[in-house]
Amino acid sequence: MLDIQQIPVLNDNYIYLIHDPDSGATAVVDPAVAEPVLERLRQNNWQLNYIFNTHHHADHTGANLALKNKTACQIIAAENDRQRIPGIDQGVAEGDRLKLGAYNIQVIECPGHTTGHIAFYIPDADALFCGDTLFAIGCGRLFEGTAEQMLQSLKKFTTLPLRTKIYCAHEYTAANAQFALSVEANNTDLLDAIERIKQLRANNLPTVPTTLEQEIATNPFLRADSDAIRKTLGMQNASELAVFTEIRARKNRF
Ligand code: ZN
Ligand code: FE
Repeated sequence: MLDIQQIPVLNDNYIYLIHDPDSGATAVVDPAVAEPVLERLRQNNWQLNYIFNTHHHADHTGANLALKNKTACQIIAAENDRQRIPGIDQGVAEGDRLKLGAYNIQVIECPGHTTGHIAFYIPDADALFCGDTLFAIGCGRLFEGTAEQMLQSLKKFTTLPLRTKIYCAHEYTAANAQFALSVEANNTDLLDAIERIKQLRANNLPTVPTTLEQEIATNPFLRADSDAIRKTLGMQNASELAVFTEIRARKNRF
């Protein structure tokens, strides 16, 4: 079994360490800062082999060079973003396969938040590392891509098994849930989730990872076909893309 450890850093970022005990191989996903990663590596007595970056933003790549200097790890990120990923060694694209020990890792291109955004999917661990694309009850802001790109990216994720665990890169869930309520006030799965989120945050515990099943039930950005949401927006007969675009616009103003 892969050992996946979550390190909360900065205001609301999560860094993930992924370790295969059989081979000893270890990767870090989106290292914003170096010291907490180095400390966790020391505590576990792990050697860092790889950095996986989901996208170029500094809160996902900030420690690339420092960690590469200290550990001689390899940096793997989107070939499309080669110019913007500090220290990149290997560029990858849609459908590329990586290995961590015996585990296969699939690269999924998911533009929207940035044009070069990618996700790392590990089928045998039911784990998706999706950076700032899909969040618990939310999705990333459209800094570079279009709403259409983001919708298509999210749709790719929804083809994965429902049990897939969603390891997103920020703890935004409580605020996302309040927005979701504003467009779908009577969603009982959402109301249940809000109670769980309150409990977790009151105890300073993460609400991440979530699961794809949970997201399909509660996340307005995966629910542009919901009659209840369409009714709230007055968009009963609009296209899925038009509804999605309006949900994203409302979230920006919320
Ligand atoms: Zn970002
Ligand atoms: Fe971020």
